[in-house]
Amino acid sequence: MHALHEVLQRIDNAAARAGRPPPRLLAVAKTRPATAIAELAAALRQAQPGRTPAIGENYVQEARTRQAELRDPGLEWHLIGHLQGNKAAAAASAFDWVQTLDRPALVAALARHRPAQRPPLNVLIQVDIDAEASKHGCRPGQIAALAAAIAAEPRLCLRGLMAIPAPWPDPQRRRAAFSRMRVLFDALVLQYPQADTLSMGMSGDLELAIAEGATLVRVGTALFGARGGSRSSRLP
Ligand SMILES: *Cc1c(COP(=O)(O)O)cnc(C)c1O
Repeated sequence: MHALHEVLQRIDNAAARAGRPPPRLLAVAKTRPATAIAELAAALRQAQPGRTPAIGENYVQEARTRQAELRDPGLEWHLIGHLQGNKAAAAASAFDWVQTLDRPALVAALARHRPAQRPPLNVLIQVDIDAEASKHGCRPGQIAALAAAIAAEPRLCLRGLMAIPAPWPDPQRRRAAFSRMRVLFDALVLQYPQADTLSMGMSGDLELAIAEGATLVRVGTALFGARGGSRSSRLP
């Protein structure tokens, strides 16, 4: 898969420039068909043998539908969309990771509904790093209390932080947001050494995020093409 190799090359180059290990790649499925995801998972297994392909979904129900279609137990599923309280129970069983935990009410709900036979649910605290009133995510000052609540739940595993910075056209402003996330992440790790994941960077800015220490990048468009069209239709 040509697009996958391009993305992996971009990740490797950025990591080499930053002098950091390459971050994990989360393939963001959005509305792409199950066949496209199956194809990508196969290509990922070839490109990164021994690693579990990670798939990101914005909605709980879409993930469940897709899981039923794919019937591939060897995938890792991440929720990256806003989680409504009434979907917490479903999310706790449908996903391996929830990247969008941003308020105390979700902590107990996810913990209570994590199926007993599954390992603890991996969670990231979503941070509203640009203080956009319209955005989901907690304020930086709320991270400590949320982290303590998560750490007190044996059915949850606190793995780190996630952010979707404002899409500033100016790359320096975006990079500054990633840099602030890195500072928050470093502070979290001091207290919770098991936290190993800083999820930031998408198709358009993964290099900037990696330069600031992203350990997981979430990529949709650069892997699958623009939504609703094929990738090749965008190429000259
Ligand atoms: C859609 C989405 C992505 C991927 O964005 P692309 O620009 O298509 O790579 C990453 N993170 C979140 C939270 C998303 O909703």
